[in-house]
Amino acid sequence: MFKLKSLTFFTIYAAQVANAYAGDIKIFDIHFTVITSNPTAQMIATVDQLKEEVNILNNYFVKEDREPIIKFRYKSASLYNDVKNSGCTFVSLGDTTDPYNSEGWAEKFNSCNDPKVRDRHALNFYVYDSHTDKDGFNNMDGHGKRNSNRPYVLLDWQRLNHNIQSPEEHEMGHAFGLGHVCIPGAKINSSTNIMASACTGGSGGKRDIGFNDEQVQTIMNYASLIEAKLSQP
Ligand SMILES: [Zn+2]
Repeated sequence: MFKLKSLTFFTIYAAQVANAYAGDIKIFDIHFTVITSNPTAQMIATVDQLKEEVNILNNYFVKEDREPIIKFRYKSASLYNDVKNSGCTFVSLGDTTDPYNSEGWAEKFNSCNDPKVRDRHALNFYVYDSHTDKDGFNNMDGHGKRNSNRPYVLLDWQRLNHNIQSPEEHEMGHAFGLGHVCIPGAKINSSTNIMASACTGGSGGKRDIGFNDEQVQTIMNYASLIEAKLSQP
């Protein structure tokens, strides 16, 4: 009898702790900007689709046990017509044929003071048309950068809606400070960690296994720093 009582007590207590923890999860606003003039991209990257990108992040930016680490919330969106005449040179990167340049692009981001293009109080998520000399505009890259705790993500429009190797949570992982992990021998259909990347001739795989404990710790550490930076006036 005593044992049963303590078990019941423990179960209730555990449930309360779980609820309290869920209430403590940080929520990050996302501002979207479509920076490509490609008409097909603009048809795909509707406000509804951008809201769906937030659902995708909330479903897949998770731990190995599929529990959330942080949550995301749709804040606002600028479509291409809203920003095509912006003074921010960052917008021109949406259709550039110059190779990706992590630091150079970050300088353009950080010097942009047009709130339609860069929301200083949100994570910024850009839809662009990636280009490489090899694949032209058929290229479908994405990039995520923590950028001294003012993170942003760039995603080729053809990768929207979780298309090909879990791009949303992978790039957002970079934005929260994570690097790649190498899964030797992985094939395109192998189950792999979200941050897996092609290495030693292998593939990044499906990236369908959540963040491991060490990655979760890194995300949590940066989440506090990012929250502080984004709340600055
Ligand atoms: Zn990556």
